[in-house]
Parts: sequence; C-alpha cells; structure tokens
Amino acid sequence: MASNKTLLILPGDGIGPEVMSEVRRVMDWMDRRRAVSFGVTYGKVGGAAIDEAGTPLTDETMADAMSVDAVLLGAVGGPKWDSLPFEQKPERGLLRLRKEMDLFANLRPAICFDALVDASSLKPDLVAGLDILIVRELTGGIYFGEPRGVETLPDGQRRGFNTQNYTSGEIRRVAEVAFELARKRDNRLCSVEKANVMESGVLWREEVSALHGEQFVDVELSHMYADNCAMQLVRQPKQFDVIVTDNLFGDMLSDEAAMLTGSLGMLPSASLGGVDATGRRKALYEPVHGSAPDIAGQEMANPIATLLSFAMSLRYSFDLADDAELIETAVKNVLAGGLRTADIIQPGKAKVSTTVMGGSLVRELDKLAA
Ligand code: NAD
Repeated sequence: MASNKTLLILPGDGIGPEVMSEVRRVMDWMDRRRAVSFGVTYGKVGGAAIDEAGTPLTDETMADAMSVDAVLLGAVGGPKWDSLPFEQKPERGLLRLRKEMDLFANLRPAICFDALVDASSLKPDLVAGLDILIVRELTGGIYFGEPRGVETLPDGQRRGFNTQNYTSGEIRRVAEVAFELARKRDNRLCSVEKANVMESGVLWREEVSALHGEQFVDVELSHMYADNCAMQLVRQPKQFDVIVTDNLFGDMLSDEAAMLTGSLGMLPSASLGGVDATGRRKALYEPVHGSAPDIAGQEMANPIATLLSFAMSLRYSFDLADDAELIETAVKNVLAGGLRTADIIQPGKAKVSTTVMGGSLVRELDKLAA
C-alpha cells in the first residue's frame, strides 16, 4: 500500500551518504516497531548529481522535492568540485532547492545534552538543560536586496553596497511560524532587530507587535536589539525560548547559539516554506554541518545531527511528535551511556564508529519501545 507520508532523501556528498544510512536504519526501525512507514524515494544533489547528470540538481529531482511532504538532505560539496565555476558548484543544488521551495523560515535548535555540557565553551551551569530555537528569515533581507553591487565613484574610490529591505508580508509570515512554534514550547518569543538604527528594524518590530495583538496575545512577546541578543546568548542563554530574527542577524546568532552546545556533528536544522492549498508546508531538513571531506569514508562521522534533523521532520512535517521525542531520548541515553564518535570524544568515554553509533541508537530505541 502506498504510504501517505512521502519523504525524498538526498544523501549528497562526503559523509552525507554515510550518516544517511544510519538514519535509514532508524526509519526501518519505525516501520517495524511503530508501524509508521514512509514512502521514501532517493535522489542526487551536489557533486553526486554533477557526476551523474552534469548539474547539481536536475529538474526531475527538483520536481520530486516539490511533490513530497519533506526532503531530508545530507550535505553537499567537496574538493573534487571546488574548481567548477560558481554557477555549477554543488552548493547551487542546495540553493536551488531553498529558492524554488521558497523556504523562508530556517529553524535552528540549540539543545545542550547533559552528557555534553563540558563540550561547550561556556560554564556547564550556563548551558546545562539549554533548549532554545532560533527562527531565521531565509529568503529576504540584505543577502537578496536590490540595489547591490560595487561601483567606482567620480573620485576613483570604489563603493560596495547592499540593501536591507523587508515587506510587511515577509516579516509576518516568518513571525507567524515563530509564534506557532513558541506555542508548542514554552510560549515565549523574542523578536530581534536593530530598530534603534534601521528603518527596516522599526518595521520589523511594528509588524511583529501587530501580529501578536491580532493572533497571538497568549504568547509572551519581547523585543531585543541584535547586539544585545548576541551578548545575552553568551551571558545567560537559558533566558530564551524562541528567537525570531532576519536573515543577516539570524545567520550570526544561530551560529553563536549552536556553538553553545559543542559539536557540529550534533546540530540539526529545518527550513520551512508556506502552507499550500492542501495544508502541507514545504520543508527541507538537514544537518548544519557540511560534507566533511576530511573524514569521509572513514567511519568517523557523527550521524546524530542528521538523525535529529529527521526527528525534526517527524515533529514539523509528519505530526509525529512522540516519535521525535523517542529518537531524542535515544540520543540522550546513548550519550549518557558513554558512547561517542570522534568529534565529541571525551576522556574516559568509548570512541565508536558511525555504524556502531547508529546500531546503538537503534538498540536504545528497542529498549525504549519495549
Ligand atoms: P564541514 O561542516 O563539512 O566540516 C567542518 C569540520 O567539522 C571538519 O573537520 C569535519 O570533519 C567536522 N565535521 C562536520 N560534520 C561532522 C560530523 N557529522 N561528524 C564528525 N565531524 C564532523 O565544513 P567545511 O569543512 O567548511 O566544508 C566541507 C565541504 O562541505 C565544503 O565543500 C563546503 O562547501 C560544504 N558545506 C556544505 C554544507 C551543506 O551541505 N549544507 C554546509 C557547510 C559546508
């Protein structure tokens, strides 16, 4: 019988296929033990697609991505394709997906697992139990604004310029996603901009406040300037629940927040688009890390970031929050049991390979579901 949950897997390059194989084991476990089956299809993106079809994303794969409930991506890129012209590079495949799926809300959770509190550069008591979510606007703002360019002035100097602009619609749609997510968490949203020095920031604050008054008065809303937010994230990160901010500030604040938790190999992300006529929201899930060519093929990659990205898809695309929680608990328990891939190894802990970590996670799921 055809599954009503459709998932396109794009393993990509480098460690992408290795970590995705471990996620597939968890999907198969869900099929067996939870009677949740996905209609899974596979496609190529990045260097793998260039090698096969001469382009980082074929029109067929793009059409597949548009037709499924969710896309799960590994990572793209590697030295083999570094010398290609910009338009043909592996990363263009990912950019095309994000653009054509119109994925305007980028979700970056920063969760600190108890077993890894010492991996943070902050004191353990500041990060123990940390669980914040940054929602970054992904398709507007200064990275895309016009006019942009570099020009030569009459006096011979050169001038580089970019434009920050947001429409009320662009602000409201990402704020709406953030308010809705806050409702499912601790019900607090902090909206971040620079309304003290930027008109686009003034509009951002006005629109978020207006939307709050119209639809989300039950959510506790606060506003903060981006520079203060950067400071507060290292001073007292646990004060936040959900943060919503623009493309530029979100780029920086989400990396800052991520690093509070330790390793790249642990960090998932989701990018969400609008809701279509059938009520389905376009969605792409991927680890924050890249293709890690330095360790590819060596059984050293940490599969947890990709597994947690899959867990995010269960929560946000498939309405399977209990199963997402089960996977997150399995990750917590396996780490608490002392197993570590090389990137998160600590003194006295057992260093394990990618597949041993994957197998241990499946066994832990077995225990949890027993
Ligand atoms: P990277 O994230 O691939 O690796 C940075 C460092 O972290 C490396 O030392 C790597 O070994 C380690 N690392 C990353 N993920 C890990 C994991 N799961 N387990 C263990 N260790 C891990 O970043 P980079 O080295 O700057 O880039 C490598 C390639 O990846 C480049 O071609 C880059 O363009 C591409 N890239 C792709 C994406 C993406 O697909 N979204 C994101 C970033 C970089």
